[in-house]
Amino acid sequence: MIINDQEKIAWQGTIVSIQPRTTVWRYKLDNRTHYHRGYNLFLDGEADGVVGRFSVAVSEKQQQKLIFRIGDQVKGTAWTKRYPVSDYADYYRAGNLKILTRADQKDTTPPPYLIEPPDMATYEWRGARMLSKSRYNGKCFPCAWATMSAVEIEYDWGVSRKYRFESFCYGPKSCPFYQMGRPRSVPYKKFGSLYDEGWLDDICTERRDWDE
Ligand code: SF4
Repeated sequence: MIINDQEKIAWQGTIVSIQPRTTVWRYKLDNRTHYHRGYNLFLDGEADGVVGRFSVAVSEKQQQKLIFRIGDQVKGTAWTKRYPVSDYADYYRAGNLKILTRADQKDTTPPPYLIEPPDMATYEWRGARMLSKSRYNGKCFPCAWATMSAVEIEYDWGVSRKYRFESFCYGPKSCPFYQMGRPRSVPYKKFGSLYDEGWLDDICTERRDWDE
């Protein structure tokens, strides 16, 4: 079915990571606001007839009802994205969700944190630090504290915005896997590029101690 250029697809696969589905709004170095909108399931399997890795956005309610875990075999439907810049997952508006096989629960020693992902309020409370893209794509990928956010940069106030994806970590500041990566440029029309060098991370995570 195709509506407004969007297509409803069927998918099935094994969950390899469950991360919060997040968006970020940046305005110069004055504001970096994180929004928490549900979860992204990353799966190895088949979506829309294509075999490989893909991701599907699910709501907080869907996750709380079905309690997806890494290793679960799952199937469902979803829709292709209407605005590719505003969502990191390949598909969203998931439906007809069904767990085909439950994964065995294994005791693992973090990091990475292969835990049942917490609710949105917990991510909101914890706040995030910038995480290097190579760590996100590598050791941190299965971690419930990792996220790739869809970022909107206010480039010319009320006139134009820029979009990109950025990786963040909500995990303990003491995690030995953590690397911030390079400072991130935040362009603004009248000022050129300013650089987020980490002090916004300190503000975003100021409620937490080193080991929290
Ligand atoms: S650095 Fe963050 S995302 Fe990576 S393993 Fe540690 S807590 Fe998880």
